[in-house]
Amino acid sequence: MCKDKITKIMMATRSSMPPIEEYIEEIRPLWNSHWLSNDGTIHSKFESKLKEYLDVENIALFVNGHMALELALSGMNLKGEVITTPFTYIATANAIVRNGLKPVFCDIREDDFNIDVDKIESLITEKTSAIVPVHIYGSPCDVEAIDKLAQKYGLKVIYDAAQSFGVTIDGNSIANYGDASMFSFHATKSFHSVEGGAVVYSDKRWRDILFKVGNFGTIQSEELEWVYPNAKMNEFQAAMGVCNLNHIDEEIAKRKRISDRYREGLSDVAGIKMVPERRGVRGNYTYMPMTMDPEAFGLSRKELLQKLKDENVFAGTFFEPLIVDFDYYKTRYREADIPVARKVAESIIVLPMFADMEEEDVDKVCRIIKDNYKG
Ligand SMILES: *Cc1c(COP(=O)(O)O)cnc(C)c1O
Repeated sequence: MCKDKITKIMMATRSSMPPIEEYIEEIRPLWNSHWLSNDGTIHSKFESKLKEYLDVENIALFVNGHMALELALSGMNLKGEVITTPFTYIATANAIVRNGLKPVFCDIREDDFNIDVDKIESLITEKTSAIVPVHIYGSPCDVEAIDKLAQKYGLKVIYDAAQSFGVTIDGNSIANYGDASMFSFHATKSFHSVEGGAVVYSDKRWRDILFKVGNFGTIQSEELEWVYPNAKMNEFQAAMGVCNLNHIDEEIAKRKRISDRYREGLSDVAGIKMVPERRGVRGNYTYMPMTMDPEAFGLSRKELLQKLKDENVFAGTFFEPLIVDFDYYKTRYREADIPVARKVAESIIVLPMFADMEEEDVDKVCRIIKDNYKG
């Protein structure tokens, strides 16, 4: 009876796996070809399937999402300052800094934790060359307002879309906004190739540049304008991506069920707030973020997290610390005026969310939260 009920541990994320036979079928030809990296057959297949799924014309694959973003910024030859958000994974800002650019941190909105477009304009200076907004937890940024600002000031827009694979806005793929977008295919994302990443871009003239930046800076001849690293995706990664892509819609549908159940279960708990679902947006339900107000709820976040832990539920608190609170950034960028980001970072809780989560486990998490409500 009841398989490992007592020791069942729930983390904030869990990697989805395709049926093992599908993966073996996908990699089997490699034992004939011995072609394991450098634009192999599966790499090409993955590219075309992604173009179709994301509804884009141009894509470049990379070994991981961080390198994809860092090298895309590098290929665009940006200078000076880049406006971004402090409420994101460290990779976003690291990619900027590693290009010798200065990240300028803009505050976020309280409802969906995305960059607050109304606060961007006052941060634009003559040194600003780009904006790197993040669709955090897969919620789309205010893409139209960002577009307008970028046009007005002649800035490039590169979205960190690491968490938003498969998201659509009024039926349009989220991949089609800005000059470029980076997707991460890391194992913890709802769509993954173990490790992996992609840059989708609007200007097809970037094709060669994006090839070079991930291939030492060269395309086969001795021509070398600048030195770049190796950041190619290999065939085993691409095969995992191809297999997972076959199941992505089913994956998203399963996650939506979990999300709906959470929303229902926690809808009437004072002090608990979820990101409102926006009309016209199809989410990907990679994460299940909520914020808690200790006053209204009657317990501190730390106490609630401990109550969850006591029952083997390991909720996350990313993206706390804020970027500006990591040592490297603290000494350099502390002056950022980001009160909303501070408030969100202190109150965020990321609940367990994965495709094969059982309904009774969602109910258990909701029950623990409700039982501890002391408002
Ligand atoms: C995961 C993630 C990255 C980094 O992607 P990797 O594939 O892990 O290198 C960058 N930005 C954000 C917002 C992420 O969530």
